[in-house]
Amino acid sequence: MRLKLILFFIGISSSIQLFSQEGCGSKLPDNYAAMHKKYNSFIASPSGTLLPHDTCLNKKLSIVFYVFLDSLGNPNVTATQYAACITILNKYFKPICLQFMNCSTVFIPEHEYNRWDRPNHENKITGNAYNWFTEKTINIYLVQQMIVPPKAGYAYGPGGKDLIVMLKSAFSGMTAVHEMGHFFGLPHTFAEISTLSEDGPSSELVNESNCQTMGDGFCDTEADPYSVGSGAAPCGFVYGPKDANNQYYVPPVDNIMSYWGCRCRFTQEQYNWMAFSYAFYRNYLH
Ligand SMILES: [Zn+2]
Repeated sequence: MRLKLILFFIGISSSIQLFSQEGCGSKLPDNYAAMHKKYNSFIASPSGTLLPHDTCLNKKLSIVFYVFLDSLGNPNVTATQYAACITILNKYFKPICLQFMNCSTVFIPEHEYNRWDRPNHENKITGNAYNWFTEKTINIYLVQQMIVPPKAGYAYGPGGKDLIVMLKSAFSGMTAVHEMGHFFGLPHTFAEISTLSEDGPSSELVNESNCQTMGDGFCDTEADPYSVGSGAAPCGFVYGPKDANNQYYVPPVDNIMSYWGCRCRFTQEQYNWMAFSYAFYRNYLH
């Protein structure tokens, strides 16, 4: 029933404000708080209990891979890697019935962009200088190195460019799922939405009493103190750090939007949020 409500509002939510979100290591969109309020009003039930089940969007989305060739003209990406990327995306977005397909692969013979420098390269590549960009699809750019930002990838959140940049060495695995999570509006588990910081520090409490407004805004992702507690222990977290109530953190080391070492799942609220983001902000995608 709520999906019907959402779909109804797709038609009238025409004045979506444009904003951008870099996937890793930056601020959240300025209107993230408004987006969250809207989410709570549409997704949350009157009792305040969030939808305990998935929303089926029944949509197949096109991905265009743009691959920068090296100075010898080699893409350094195999057919197996493209297929693995699509397969892992389909696996993790299946609960909300989002599928992905590789509708085309474009090789770009400008090897200097293979060492990606976002401030100097992104607008040239996607804009009038070269125009390597396909409207209303998910444009994924594959580069050998990320000089700026020095990350495995980044993505624009809902309302921003339909663009994800990733390393050729990372795009066929969990990095693709993480960046697609950002693409559909998910913050990091250690983000702090009250200050629009993707990098925290999170003020979410272990007892989850402030979970709707602090941290990543979700109550089924445990409070995450990253990078406090980083170490060589299993999944990269060393038990010991405490929150403001003196309670020990037990962070979501298995969550795809974390930076811990055992990423393998989204939570129900994260799926709800991504379904909401698609329905309200990215439903124009083919
Ligand atoms: Zn990230």
